Amino acid sequence: MSDCLFCKIAAGEIPAKKVFEDDDVIAFHDIHPVAPVHFLLVPKIHIDSLAHATAEHQTLLGKMLLLTSKLAAEQGLSDGYRTIINTGHGGGQTFFHLHMHIIGGKPLSTNIS
Ligand code: 5GP
Ligand code: ZN
Repeated sequence: MSDCLFCKIAAGEIPAKKVFEDDDVIAFHDIHPVAPVHFLLVPKIHIDSLAHATAEHQTLLGKMLLLTSKLAAEQGLSDGYRTIINTGHGGGQTFFHLHMHIIGGKPLSTNIS
């Protein structure tokens, strides 16, 4: 998508503090972190949101979930971390390219509201 921030970051057209990259995904630090560690894991292909993912994305989504523990450990989150996928306006999504937040480095409330 030509006008999508995360497509542009994935294409290297907009800089980001990269955590990880391969052919399928890119991870980079959130520009407005809510915790000492807060990065985004983003598929390189444009998918508007989790609600727009289909069976053809199953392997990609599984890969993203499994990557979170490796990347979190590399960022020092040995005590645990939180993953969040905001989906749609009602879910608090503000950038409509599917992305997973990985957050940690401070005690996180058990209240996820
Ligand atoms: P959402 O609310 O859609 O789940 O999260 C979007 C996230 O993207 C927000 O946490 C926001 O801080 C982050 N963000 C917005 N613009 C930029 C940017 O230009 N660079 C980076 N690295 N993160 C961004
Ligand atoms: Zn995009």
